[in-house]
Amino acid sequence: MTAIGGTTRLVGLIGWPVAHSKSPLMQNAALAAAGIDAAYVPLPVAPEQVGDAVIGLRALGFRGVNVTIPHKMAVLPFLDSLTPEAEVVGAVNTIRVEGDGSLTGHNTDCLGAVRAVEQDGTPVAGRHVVVLGAGGAGRGVAAGVALAGAAAVTVLNRTVDKAQRLVEELGGRLRPLGVSPRWSAGSPDGSTIDWSTVDIVMQMTSIGMEDNPGVPVDPSLLHPEIHLLEAVYAPAETDFLRACRAKGLRTSDGLSMLLEQGAAAFEFWFDIPPDRDVMRAALSTG
Ligand code: NAP
Repeated sequence: MTAIGGTTRLVGLIGWPVAHSKSPLMQNAALAAAGIDAAYVPLPVAPEQVGDAVIGLRALGFRGVNVTIPHKMAVLPFLDSLTPEAEVVGAVNTIRVEGDGSLTGHNTDCLGAVRAVEQDGTPVAGRHVVVLGAGGAGRGVAAGVALAGAAAVTVLNRTVDKAQRLVEELGGRLRPLGVSPRWSAGSPDGSTIDWSTVDIVMQMTSIGMEDNPGVPVDPSLLHPEIHLLEAVYAPAETDFLRACRAKGLRTSDGLSMLLEQGAAAFEFWFDIPPDRDVMRAALSTG
């Protein structure tokens, strides 16, 4: 890690809690590798103090922060402007303090998933993408793939109404930007779509975590040309990811998605790409 001195700039993570986060490990490794005189610090912020914390970034000379649960929407009233990604998703996971002290909100969660599959060889533009899950991650990723030019986006969720609402809401926000994929919604039981038309599956439910075993979709429905992105990164290989690999699908794991949202935040703050190998090594050992 870079030695902290009188000229060191700060970036960090505000959330409640933040102690479990892997972001300090990967961001500090990337800062050191790039020779940037900055440090990334965890900042536990109680919900009733979000406004004070965000406004204080300016006075304390921060370059920016990541924002995690439960503050991704709570920070919105304290920001001066939003990027199109943050505007569409309606949530912010990265803030940059501009030279004039104004605060810009961005959403790199929605970019991370797109970049992870693109880094692993599958462009999103023109493809039919199925997003499994309509929670926070599903929302961000559905917006991200639409912004990246997906031809069709299908959101499948256990609670079908939630998928339907998500599709209607995102469709409405994206249309004025000229982004109009073919949207659809349904349940993950396989009855609602023709899987032979699907190019990419973004697994954005919490199924597969240690306390939530199972698979979101019967892997036998998926053909081997599909690219699967798994959001869950603990465990590093879920049962679903293992089954898809066994069938010969191209896959990207949850650490790739985590890494890419962090890499996009790093670029937003420092205008240069981080060393991804260094970030992955830090994530894998952390
Ligand atoms: P969330 O808002 O709580 O949403 C959870 C989603 O999973 C909902 O769509 C929910 O469906 C579905 N679900 C949960 N248990 C289910 C079950 N047993 N059967 C069917 N559906 C089930 O969570 P989130 O913030 O979106 O996060 C989802 C996962 O993504 C978590 O594991 C999180 O760690 C991971 N994640 C990873 C990254 C990364 O960078 N790799 C980033 C963000 C999130 P209902 O709507 O029907 O309840």
